Amino acid sequence: MSSLHTSWCEISASALRKNAETLKARLKSHTKLGVVVKSDGYGHGLTIAASAFLRGGADWLIVNAIDEAIQLRRASIAAPIYVCGYVPEAAFERVIETHSRLVLFDFAAAKALSAIATSMHAKVAVHIKLETGTNRQGLELEEAVELGKLVRSLPGLELEGLTTHFADIEDSTNHAFAKKQIERFDAALKSFAETGLRVPVPHLANSAATLLYPETHAIMVRAGIAAYGLWPSKETYATALQRQADGVDAGAAMLEPAMTWRARIAQVKNVAAGSYVGYGRTYRTSAPARIAVLPLGYYEGYDRRLSNTAHVLVHGQRAPVRGRVCMNMCMVDVTHVPEAAAGSVATLLGRDGDEEISAEQLAGWMGTINYEVVSRIHPSVARVEVE
Ligand SMILES: *Cc1c(COP(=O)(O)O)cnc(C)c1O
Repeated sequence: MSSLHTSWCEISASALRKNAETLKARLKSHTKLGVVVKSDGYGHGLTIAASAFLRGGADWLIVNAIDEAIQLRRASIAAPIYVCGYVPEAAFERVIETHSRLVLFDFAAAKALSAIATSMHAKVAVHIKLETGTNRQGLELEEAVELGKLVRSLPGLELEGLTTHFADIEDSTNHAFAKKQIERFDAALKSFAETGLRVPVPHLANSAATLLYPETHAIMVRAGIAAYGLWPSKETYATALQRQADGVDAGAAMLEPAMTWRARIAQVKNVAAGSYVGYGRTYRTSAPARIAVLPLGYYEGYDRRLSNTAHVLVHGQRAPVRGRVCMNMCMVDVTHVPEAAAGSVATLLGRDGDEEISAEQLAGWMGTINYEVVSRIHPSVARVEVE
């Protein structure tokens, strides 16, 4: 962390690598570990994350947008890339140039991709998205089979995958709906086979399914949040613990969070009793206080809902946020931390000494999920790889 940085995220490459190893160890030998590195590697830094996962045994990288595939290729990453989000026709050439796999969920895109692939004398591997109950991308079974037939008939395309995505597997300890989705997916695989459509790489498991349901692993899994050392939800963690208690290993307590977010204190000031702190004067001191000003706010991703609620760590002690989080600053109380001074390091997420602020705790304060906490830290905050 160069002294130029006022706020930065330390990314533990060894934690990322170990999480990939942990996930890989849960898979059968013929199952590929696909790791999702969309959204700048869930905020951990795209190439830092991708490189660490590949060292940990990841087989495929999964991105949302073609730009991310381009960035990975520019970083000389040669692993197979699957783009799971929308790619406009105008970017189809980039799909071919980056040797990416594309998800298809409509007929016009298949035809356009075929035309471009043919003109570039290339072959593109495509995956068909099946609707099983999430109603995001995806085609109902009959249409999916029709698209499969179209892909088979078009030059320049090769049907490689059939895929779907769970709606609520991490939201509940009742997995009845997820099981219905698995049944629909299995039925679709059967229909594809009966139509003579070979699908070498079926995949459906996200992190929760990868951790809890080996029967969903198929030929590839698409693990995101777990690879970053975070549990998809309390419910997933509770289910894993229950499995553990029942003597079935579900990887509980084996994931290692990889991100620590820190900032340098810009100023410490003595504030008299009865003084207000911040916009709206929403906090008033009841005794003389020492208030530290941190050089980051909601622009940097320190959510405004953390106002008067969150804690940061300073010299291993909790320092509560006082007043409203501003656009580029926030204030914390360090009255009880005499060592705190301008230049001291504050920890917003992660460990300092015996204390820890987890992504889940921040998520609770913000009214959101750990996924959003890590992926919304602004790109202007430096990501620094540490071992
Ligand atoms: C983001 C995403 C995943 C990963 O989900 P996690 O819960 O983070 O494991 C898997 N598949 C698709 C299609 C996704 O968009």
